[in-house]
Amino acid sequence: MTALLPTSTAGSLPKPSWLAQPETLWSPWKLDDGELAEGKRDALRLSLAEQQAAGIDIVSDGEQTRQHFVTTFIENLGGVDFENRRVMTIRDRYEAAVPVVVEAVTRKQAVFVEDAAFLRQHTDAPIKWALPGPMTMVDTLYDAHYGSRRDLAWEFAAILNQEAKELAAAGVDIVQFDEPAFNVFFDDVKSWGIAALERAAEGLECETAVHICYGYGIEANTDWKKTLGSEWRQYEETFPRLRESSIDIVSLECHNSHVPMELLELVRGKKLMVGAIDVASPAVETPQDVATTLRNALQFVDPDQLWPSTNCGMAPLPRTVARAKLAALGAGAEIVRRELSEGSLG
Ligand SMILES: [Zn+2]
Repeated sequence: MTALLPTSTAGSLPKPSWLAQPETLWSPWKLDDGELAEGKRDALRLSLAEQQAAGIDIVSDGEQTRQHFVTTFIENLGGVDFENRRVMTIRDRYEAAVPVVVEAVTRKQAVFVEDAAFLRQHTDAPIKWALPGPMTMVDTLYDAHYGSRRDLAWEFAAILNQEAKELAAAGVDIVQFDEPAFNVFFDDVKSWGIAALERAAEGLECETAVHICYGYGIEANTDWKKTLGSEWRQYEETFPRLRESSIDIVSLECHNSHVPMELLELVRGKKLMVGAIDVASPAVETPQDVATTLRNALQFVDPDQLWPSTNCGMAPLPRTVARAKLAALGAGAEIVRRELSEGSLG
């Protein structure tokens, strides 16, 4: 891996239009059965090739084999009824018909382990694999069994831990838990969110990351962002606790957002995947735009702990746009890498 400023993405990348409807969340598959299985693998290989062409150092599956970052994982669990959905408000923001927890949740089988092994076969680069975090899972379901968000999160954490350990054994170098809900439910984060996250990551021999963001560039999220005021200080609530946690890496949103850069100081000591690509806008950053965000972050992050990334997943973007943004990320990181090695920064 590149010694300095290794690049990665937050997670999802657009799927090819022959596999799923583009620019759509929860997009239905266009293939069935054996063709679908083969199509997902082909898309995973394409996604890997696109990341490598853009100079991305830590690669992922681009989430090509899953319909959605939370629900696809839940579909593989027992105790959840997907037929009789209930309408619920997700992250206090938008309504969705969600599955219902009807009895004790169980992990019936490995969910992504075969896909991770497949990715491992095709690259020697470090691999990052994203899983939903326990709190975000709880927030994407209607619970008719546990009667306690904390208890349900704890069960999910144990299930995630099993999956994460098998992913690590399959050759995954970094397991990332996606917790956008950490930017909304601050009291829950304090009372059980971090503990559940640590439970999910317990005993893992690979590195662990948590991704906390302001969401995909969908309308419900952009409307919500308009209510947050000129300075987004949500990270201020969670970072001091994450700094004390067992999690190795924090993945966060920095580019074009209203997050004051000095908040990064609150997690000093952790490796930071700093979002330098805006996923809520189709405008493609220049490498210089990326470099500017990274230079700003370097005021608060040590160079050996800064890992350039995207603000969030790019699944809802047009594929050509996502490809260009990946290239800008790779080229922007290279600019700053050169400046650091020449000693022309700081
Ligand atoms: Zn995100």
